[in-house]
Amino acid sequence: MLSLDSYKASQRPTWCPGCGDFAVLASLQKASLNVGVAPEDMVVVSGIGCSGKISQHFGSYGVHTLHGRVLPTAAAVKVANRNLTVIAAGGDGDGFGIGVGHFVHAARRNVDITYIVMDNHIYGLTTGQTSPTSEPGHCTKTHPEGAFEEPIHPLELAITCGATFVGQAFAGDPAGMTRVVEQAIRHKGFSMVNIFSPCVTFNKRNTYAWFKEVLTDVSADPNYDCTNKAAALAKLEESAEHITGVLYQVNKKTYEEQLPNLPSSPLTGVDLRLGSEQFEHLLQEFR
Ligand code: SF4
Repeated sequence: MLSLDSYKASQRPTWCPGCGDFAVLASLQKASLNVGVAPEDMVVVSGIGCSGKISQHFGSYGVHTLHGRVLPTAAAVKVANRNLTVIAAGGDGDGFGIGVGHFVHAARRNVDITYIVMDNHIYGLTTGQTSPTSEPGHCTKTHPEGAFEEPIHPLELAITCGATFVGQAFAGDPAGMTRVVEQAIRHKGFSMVNIFSPCVTFNKRNTYAWFKEVLTDVSADPNYDCTNKAAALAKLEESAEHITGVLYQVNKKTYEEQLPNLPSSPLTGVDLRLGSEQFEHLLQEFR
């Protein structure tokens, strides 16, 4: 019998009191319970940064990878065992800085994984530098007079690169966040949920109150059609990406389904040894 405790690890989080990542972890646990996937059938793959600790606090299998390398690792796990529910998780610096190339390719390939980004618009673990989503004018340790570069627009990027599920949520709205994360886990294909998860220690600009003030939910528009790419892009433009809910969702074949010669059963159960004839044939190619 599954309960919320089934998804809790024995190690307690060390995030700063009030950090949005607590709510993201709780939401992922609740959404997994709602979906009914057992923890032993899940793998949480995380990156480097405060958010990267999430794999240690979620009671499933987990991999804490290198900076920016969450998505290729998560994709490899999924390809090796399609029976697993694979969650990739990291921060805006990890995913949209050094890892942005992997983000583009995971989205266009439509690997069946759920990517949760804890977006706090700053590098928190390293004590407050400008991140790829910091807004112009944001004064940080690396830009004391204000950031001036155009920020990455995560949802627009995900949609234009081919992601088949794109959503956004806010750590200050746990119920709304759980709904979006649950839909993302249920989606077959690459699902990305960008979650505004305030860094209460090093970002005094993008606070809970600030997000509450600027965010609207896409479901407030009864005529919105999340399967219409042009409508999704227009909504993002009109809201400056300050919007929550499921922005875009379509169905397409996944990467794993299209990989030739990939058995549908886990590779761990497949005998990959070569027979002597095959081995000899292979050797001939190198002689
Ligand atoms: Fe969270 Fe910021 Fe503290 Fe890191 S530094 S745990 S992101 S509040």
